[in-house]
Amino acid sequence: MSTRPRKIPFLVIAPAIVLIVGLAAGLALAILGTLRLRAQSDDAASLRARLLCLTLAERIRSTPEEDRQAVLERAARRSGAELLLVTADGKVIVDGTQGAPAKPRILELLIAGEGETSTQLGRARFFSAALQAPKAYVNLLVFVAAPATPFATGSLLMWVATLTGLLVGVAALVALALARDVHADVTFVRKRIVEMAKEGADPTGIPIPVRSVDLVGLLTSAFNVLVDRFTAAEHAYRQDLSGALAYDRDRSDFLAALSHELRTPLNAILGFTDVLLSEVDGPLSADATENLSVVRNSGQHLRALIDDILDLSALESGELRLNCKMIDVLSIGQEVVREARIAAEAKNLEISAVGNRAMAFADARRVRQIIGNVVGNAVKFTAQGGVMLRIDPRDGGVTIAVTDSGAGIAPQDHEAIFQEYWQAGDVKRQRVGTGLGLAITRRLVQMHRGFIDLKSQLGKGSTFTIVLPSRPPPVVVERPSAAPRPSIDSIDSIESNEYGSST
Ligand code: ADP
Repeated sequence: MSTRPRKIPFLVIAPAIVLIVGLAAGLALAILGTLRLRAQSDDAASLRARLLCLTLAERIRSTPEEDRQAVLERAARRSGAELLLVTADGKVIVDGTQGAPAKPRILELLIAGEGETSTQLGRARFFSAALQAPKAYVNLLVFVAAPATPFATGSLLMWVATLTGLLVGVAALVALALARDVHADVTFVRKRIVEMAKEGADPTGIPIPVRSVDLVGLLTSAFNVLVDRFTAAEHAYRQDLSGALAYDRDRSDFLAALSHELRTPLNAILGFTDVLLSEVDGPLSADATENLSVVRNSGQHLRALIDDILDLSALESGELRLNCKMIDVLSIGQEVVREARIAAEAKNLEISAVGNRAMAFADARRVRQIIGNVVGNAVKFTAQGGVMLRIDPRDGGVTIAVTDSGAGIAPQDHEAIFQEYWQAGDVKRQRVGTGLGLAITRRLVQMHRGFIDLKSQLGKGSTFTIVLPSRPPPVVVERPSAAPRPSIDSIDSIESNEYGSST
């Protein structure tokens, strides 16, 4: 696995670049300055050699031969130059040097006339001039020292170093300050983004101060625009959401009110239908009995629907309360099965309730509703075979399992069938219900701090397993804000004897 190269922080890199560039510039300046100084010093040495040579040649020409040695030595002492009086064939007449060059070298110098050579004292510029007639065969050679390091080099280098150090130091400090500024801005932007990204964070707040000149300024102002837009979008979203919630509440209220209003006349219709069917007011024809039975069945279906809507609305508003006590779930299950037997036998289905006495801490009416819903569905969605209700005590609770040999439920529908108004299967199958039964069942089970589980295979049947707690909840002073979803091993975590819906 390749490791990512470690990045040098921007805070270090900016002043470091300024330092390196500054020092390189200073070094280049020092080298160029030294070279230029040397060239100028060489030029000056050449000029001195030329002037000295021409002046002395003139003087020596008019000096008697016996005095020439003394004149040359004095001139050499005073000027600091080396002087050589030679014949045209390279023979030394007067030697005013620290060590005269060999004859062939002298001849080379005479031929060259002027240029650079090295003497016993080091690098030197030389110039040669022939004495005028009658001494035309005599030549004067003048050597002026031209040091490789001119005398001002030291101070030049010192000043270059001082100035470079000062400038580089100031530039590095400015770079460091700027880098710190940029770094602080970037860190701030990053911190704000992280804060905004937190769940439930408020995107509004202090806008990031914008620096007008640099790229971070552009970035931060763009970010501020983004935050503004995000805030506006979230504001609009919250408004839409509260509108939708209000609409949902209104719809629930309307449904509940309507259901209440429908229930009274419906009860009257069902009551009078029963009276008519019991023939206390006189005998009915076979057709009338059949028609009245249809009216009663439709009315009962309508009442079940209205009851479901009222339950759901009570669950959603939190008005539904449980009245829990220790109850025998097996006897309730047996009653439910007894009631469902008529519908089951009409479809030639076998139906049974088996198991052991099992006590649960629950609301008897709601447990009847829970088991009734699941058993009713099992009968409704089973065409042949049977339905079996099995109730057993378990560690800390009661297991209620309803198994059928019906159509089964596709795996992708296992979660969806527990949602409101959701129905699986074909349209014909859907017509026989409302899609509310399992949604209400699951909420009721969860209110008991229990849970419901489904195992099903298409074409083979389904088993709905419900677990209810068998002990009252421990009394706790503080209610935790979010109750954990109870699991099969933690069904004891019930919190109050009578509690509202946990929608
Ligand atoms: P409904 O009033 O339609 O029965 P439910 O909420 O009780 O509403 O059930 C939702 C859907 O789940 C049903 O429409 C049905 O498709 C499916 N369902 C529920 N129980 C069974 C079962 N025992 N076998 C097959 N499908 C079932």
